[in-house]
Order: sequence, then C-alpha cells, then structure tokens
Amino acid sequence: MQIAQNSVVAFHYTLTNDAGEVLDSSEGREPLTYLHGAGNIIPGLEKELEGRAAGDKLNVKVDPSEGYGEVQDQLMQEVPRDAFQGVDNIEPGMQFQAQTQGGPLMVTVKKVEGDTVVVDGNHPLAGVHLNFDVEIASVREANAEEVEHGHVHGEGGVHH
Ligand code: ZN
Repeated sequence: MQIAQNSVVAFHYTLTNDAGEVLDSSEGREPLTYLHGAGNIIPGLEKELEGRAAGDKLNVKVDPSEGYGEVQDQLMQEVPRDAFQGVDNIEPGMQFQAQTQGGPLMVTVKKVEGDTVVVDGNHPLAGVHLNFDVEIASVREANAEEVEHGHVHGEGGVHH
C-alpha cells in the first residue's frame, strides 16, 4: 500500500549535512516508525514520503524552513555563571534544560567568558540543510486508537 494520511510507516534513514557528515542514522537499529499526517516527523520529509511504498528508496533534501527551522538569534543568550549552581566545569557543548516563559527548553553551551555563559536554545539542526537517504521498510494502516492519539502504538511506537 501507498503512504497516505494515517499510514503507519517504518523506514531506515541516514541523515547527512551538505558536507557529507553523518548526523544521524537508523543503521544497526530498528527502523523509525511514525504516523503519517500527524506531524510526527519534519514537514519536508513527511511530504516526500507521501505516495511511496515499502521497498522504495529515495533521497530527500530538506531546507531548514521545512526541517528544524532557521537559527534564531534571540535564542542565543548570555547567562551568569551563577545560574549553573552545582556544575563545576561548564564547557562548550554541554546541554542543560532551561526553564523559560514558553516552558522547558534544551540549551547548548556555546562559550564561557569569565562569569558569563553563552547558551543557544536553537535546535542543534536549526539552519542545517538536511539530506536523508531513506528506505521504506513497511507501511500499514493505523488503527482507530492510533489515529485518535496521533502516534503509533506497539512495535516502534508508544507502549501504554
Ligand atoms: Zn497512544
């Protein structure tokens, strides 16, 4: 069957940036399973999978606008060193959960300058052009409960 609204799709993928570096891959793992049409995966990829079937292989290029968004400068912030109580060595690359007005946000330390820490609340893949090599493993129809919940149950999905 072809992928359409409310299909449960399992696919293998390798994600690279424009420099050819592998950012993520399902190799050696179970395929990624999602409910089609429910916004479970980034829009640019979901759109290209529409109408495909099990066994199809495709390469999908996704711009940041249809991926993890553009880099937003206002999500770069300077935070006093004191805000990280209990952490002895703050180094670039460390990730923390920050409490913001919009709820919890994962931030990454960009640099440490004396008593000031620069953190970045952008998604690590914001602003990145994404290249997906995809192989579709299986396609099935979602059941009523999955459609109602907006996600896949059972294998590769949510168990509850
Ligand atoms: Zn559920």
